[in-house]
Amino acid sequence: MSRVCIGIAGAAGRMGRMLVQAVMEREEVQLTAAWDRPGSEFLGRDAGELAGVGPSGVLLGEGGEAAFGGCDVVIDFTAPAATLAHVALAESRGARMVIGTTGLDETGKRRIAEASGRIPIVMAPNFSVGVNVMIQLVAQAAKALGEEVDIEIIEAHHRHKVDAPSGTALRLGEAAAEALQRNLKEVAIYGRQGLTGPRDRKTIGFATVRGGDVVGDHTVLYAGDGERLEITHKASSRMTFARGAVRAALWLAGQGPGLFDMRDVLDLK
Ligand code: NAD
Repeated sequence: MSRVCIGIAGAAGRMGRMLVQAVMEREEVQLTAAWDRPGSEFLGRDAGELAGVGPSGVLLGEGGEAAFGGCDVVIDFTAPAATLAHVALAESRGARMVIGTTGLDETGKRRIAEASGRIPIVMAPNFSVGVNVMIQLVAQAAKALGEEVDIEIIEAHHRHKVDAPSGTALRLGEAAAEALQRNLKEVAIYGRQGLTGPRDRKTIGFATVRGGDVVGDHTVLYAGDGERLEITHKASSRMTFARGAVRAALWLAGQGPGLFDMRDVLDLK
C-alpha cells in the first residue's frame, strides 16, 4: 500500500513540532509538506530538525496552494483564521483535513461543516484517546445521576493558551448537557464573581485555571447531597494529541466527504 502523504500547517508551533515527530515515527505516512505563517523566523528550516528528530528533507515553507497540491491529508493545529484559509485551499485542491485548532466561533464552525460536504474532515477539540473515552463516560454518568447533582467542569492549561474555557471542556459540557436534554448555550455559566445567589441545578459551571506548563487537565464533577463523583483526565505530553491526529489522518484517507470527530476514528460511537 502506498504511504499517505501528509502536510503539517503551523509546523513551527508547539503542536506542529509534535505532529512532525508523530508523522516521522510511522511508516504508513510520509511528510510531504510543512509550513508556518508568512514571515515566521523558522521558514526555510528542515521541519524534522526543528522538531528535534533529525532531517526530514522537508523545508518549512509559507504554505499556499502549492503546499496543498501533494498532500492527501493536511493536519492543522494553528489558529481560527489560518484554519479557515486552509479549509478553502483544501476544498480547491481536494485535500482531506484533520483540524485540531480550538476557539473557532459559530460562523467558523458552520464554514467547516459546509466544506465537509465536499471534502472529508476530522475535527476534534482533543485528539487523545483517553479524553474521547472520557466524553462517553461523562454522558453515561450524567444520564445515570440525572437531576440529582450539580455539574461543574474544571480545566487547567499552560500559560500560553489563548482561548478559554478549553475546547475540550466545552465538548465535555455538551456531552453532559445532551445526555440531560439541556442546551449548553442556555445552561452554561462561565466563571462566577460577586453576589451570584444560590446555584441553579440545571446550570453547568466552568472554571478555568491557566499557568506554567500544564499540558491539559480536565475534571467533570458531579456534586450531590452526600456524595461527589469526579471524572478526571490529565495529559502529560502533547505527543498524545499528535499521535491521535496522525491516527485520524490515516483513518480519513479511506473516507468520503463528511464531518467526523475522534470518536468516529476510534469507533466509540
Ligand atoms: P502555537 O502558537 O505554539 O502554534 C501555532 C502555530 O501556527 C504557530 O507556529 C503559528 O505561527 C502558526 N500559524 C499561525 N497562522 C498560520 C498560518 N496562516 N499558516 C501557517 N501557520 C500559521 O499553538 P499550539 O499550542 O501548537 O496550539 C495550536 C492550536 O491547537 C490551538 O488552537 C490549540 O488550542 C490547539 N490544540 C488542540 C489540541 C487537540 O487535541 N485538538 C491539542 C493541543 C492544542
